[in-house]
Amino acid sequence: MSKAVTVSFEFFPPSDAAMADQLWSAVLRLAPLRPRFVSVTYGADGSTRSRTHDLVMRIRRETDLLVAPHLTCVGAPREEVIGIARDYWRCGVRHLVALRGDAPASDPAAPSTPGATPGTGAPGPKAPGSAGAGCRYQPHPGGFAFASDLVGGLKSAGEFEISVAAYPEGHPESGSVEADLANLKRKIDAGATRAITQFFFDPEVFLRYRDRCAASGVAASIVPGILPITRFPQMLRFAERCGASVPAWLRRRFEGLDEDPETRRMIAAHVAIEQVQLLRQHGVDEFHFYTLNRAELTYAICHALGLRPWVFEEAQVA
Ligand code: FAD
Repeated sequence: MSKAVTVSFEFFPPSDAAMADQLWSAVLRLAPLRPRFVSVTYGADGSTRSRTHDLVMRIRRETDLLVAPHLTCVGAPREEVIGIARDYWRCGVRHLVALRGDAPASDPAAPSTPGATPGTGAPGPKAPGSAGAGCRYQPHPGGFAFASDLVGGLKSAGEFEISVAAYPEGHPESGSVEADLANLKRKIDAGATRAITQFFFDPEVFLRYRDRCAASGVAASIVPGILPITRFPQMLRFAERCGASVPAWLRRRFEGLDEDPETRRMIAAHVAIEQVQLLRQHGVDEFHFYTLNRAELTYAICHALGLRPWVFEEAQVA
């Protein structure tokens, strides 16, 4: 029998009051689904950094959710990054998502790809697992160079549970599939226990990747990152930045819907539900959702996966 489904939700720190309201509604709507954890993305610049911290603290204060802040190597010496991790540990945070990050670009407030660095200009969500806005990544002279180094450093700061990023279609800067897998293995060997993937749309892409990870001796859960498509053009920008492929059948499904949000939402839900159900049939029991701070689609997909809101009174009676 297959195991029960568990989910996690990713949010990004809002940059203004309207976005903060939208984010908080999403948190409250999704919280009763009892995710294993929620994560909060991290930008390279100082303001985004403090917004990540503020959001993490608010979620801890006002909900009973377990929060995993993202941390990156970008723009800070090792001691500073370790200092942030130690602060989190003192505040009761026990899970971190450790990333290299990308070169910071123009607008620190804009969320990039789901799971991403700041810096695309327009306010709104960044691409999950963005490879940034085209600048070349340079490690900070006194900093951690790669995520595997960061994982090792964080482990020395506390016995954190650590999740890292993985790329079913390869990281844009990896020279080969083998180099990519070797890098993931380094991150796991350094102490990470979960790899959350970049978004993808073809379930086969994920399943082949999971097989390759197992064959390469990667001893960690490989958790598919699911991106519900809120706006198709935005998703195309994300995909271009992070090297995720967009199948022709997916383009056809969204054709002509730019001005038809209602149909678009239905199609988006259908696409993602199909995707998770197929993965489920192949034994996948953990999913990470790039919510882009919106609950509606993620909630519907979770419902289709069999998750139901947990109601305290009912639980007491049962
Ligand atoms: P790494 O694992 O360090 O790999 C980066 C590249 O360097 C790869 O091509 C790898 O092969 C290569 N490499 C690694 N080690 C070496 C070495 N020793 N020598 C030579 N090459 C090496 N970005 C943010 O800024 N903030 C976020 O909150 C954020 N959240 C994310 C969440 C998820 C789930 C995902 C998938 C991505 C997220 N990103 C985020 C984006 C991420 O920072 C970028 O994709 C970045 O380009 C790579 O990060 P990484 O941790 O995978 O890097």
